[in-house]
Amino acid sequence: MYAMRNLPSKRCLRRVWGVGHSLPSGRLAPAGAPTPALPAARLVSCELPSADPGVAPPEGHPGHGRLKATARAAVRQRGGGLGRLLAPRGAGGARWFPAAPRSAEACTSRPGLASFPAAGAVTRLEPSAGRALPHGRHGAAGGARAGAALLRAGGGAGRPAAAPLRRGDSPPHVPIKELSTKLVISIIGNLSSTIRNFFPDLQVFPALGNHDYWPQDQLPVTTSEVYNAVADFWKPWLSDEAISTFRKGGFYTQLFESSNSHQPLRIISLNTNLYYSPNKVTVNITDPANQFAWLEEILETSSQKQEKVYIIGHVPVGYLPYARNTTAIREYYNERLVKIFRKYSSVIAGQFFGHTHRDSIMVLLDEEEKPVNSLFVAPAVTPVKSVLQTESNNPGVRLYQYDLFDYSLLDLWQFYLDLRDANKKNESNWKLEYILTKTYGIEDLKPESLYEMVKQLSMPHSTLFEQYYSNYIVSYNKTILCEEGCKTCQICAIQYLDSSSYTDCINQEAMWR
Ligand SMILES: [Zn+2]
Repeated sequence: MYAMRNLPSKRCLRRVWGVGHSLPSGRLAPAGAPTPALPAARLVSCELPSADPGVAPPEGHPGHGRLKATARAAVRQRGGGLGRLLAPRGAGGARWFPAAPRSAEACTSRPGLASFPAAGAVTRLEPSAGRALPHGRHGAAGGARAGAALLRAGGGAGRPAAAPLRRGDSPPHVPIKELSTKLVISIIGNLSSTIRNFFPDLQVFPALGNHDYWPQDQLPVTTSEVYNAVADFWKPWLSDEAISTFRKGGFYTQLFESSNSHQPLRIISLNTNLYYSPNKVTVNITDPANQFAWLEEILETSSQKQEKVYIIGHVPVGYLPYARNTTAIREYYNERLVKIFRKYSSVIAGQFFGHTHRDSIMVLLDEEEKPVNSLFVAPAVTPVKSVLQTESNNPGVRLYQYDLFDYSLLDLWQFYLDLRDANKKNESNWKLEYILTKTYGIEDLKPESLYEMVKQLSMPHSTLFEQYYSNYIVSYNKTILCEEGCKTCQICAIQYLDSSSYTDCINQEAMWR
């Protein structure tokens, strides 16, 4: 979920999120607050337990985020339970997120883009084994209270901060038999109306996730009951034209008019679930729902009109950073998308994905290895772990800063909830985890700067890479080290999105250790 709003410069210290507003449950704490000591762990490999090239293991994987709670309980807690969980707006002094820093850079009139990777954002699923925790459990799902506090904080000020971009996966990640089309529609409806209640004035740009359908992952190439129902839920945010396109294939484009900018920004919300490896509906279809043709046409027109474009989607393009030789979408579709993104890289000012629940970065290089696009995979509010991602993640949300003139990305503020701490103290204390430019010592988030950052990360024994990996798991456990094969996979996935360059990178493995 992505939100966009510009702030006048006189409010610069508030920036896009109102600096220093407390969450109802507690005060803001500085970044880097101590976390409980945990046993050290080393990850030295990203080999798949059973190699199955081309089949993505993440959310379609049997071990992925499997929860024991029943779907009905999930719906009760997620949708129906929200009224109980969310206090009325303004109650308890609820305001927006943790503080954005009071830095000189923050004191600009530049707008922000808030990113809510919604995957199970407001769930209260609890594993059947073990004690139920009020804020959710690592490796299972984020707690209802974490999500509720987040929404309450976001909407309570009555002065929306930025236009949320919502990247999908509202329903819980439970076995297929525990859900149905009706339940999935009901969950998406509940979350959409909850977001609208808490951000009544915000322009929201949502995208569909692979769990936003039943059976999960099987998103169709033509109109469907789910696409139609979701289109109705999203009508308040989208134009008639966008809604009409969405009904046919689950994707859309829409202009974001900014009062401070000389030109509008075009949002393209892709249904990358059509390309997702476990989607059996699209096997052997070269252009599912004609989305590639549509995308190229939109980008060509944008190029002629000199528009700038943000691409949003759920399942990311490129290679998974935790699994060797594995793309999340089918390799054929990946190659095609990379080709399109390279061709129109001058039009595309940023790309935003979710799905993995982790925090990762990609830099798209052209054929001459020149950095041409910045891509971000934002962490989810829900923690998960799986066979391939044995370490979990803390819940996270983020805010991007971009340039009003050309929509180039300038910085991002990543916030997180220390889930152990939240459960111990029974309060949601969202903290600033890091500011990207400061952490990595780069000027902005433009492709050239990110590429510079990757070069630093690639150095043998790079402490900056240790920081990157800690951020990757959203400060879940700072003692986990990603070394050898694990680091190779991360480094290659960051900078090589197509098969040939990625394979070359993997083959030079010794260089990255
Ligand atoms: Zn997903």
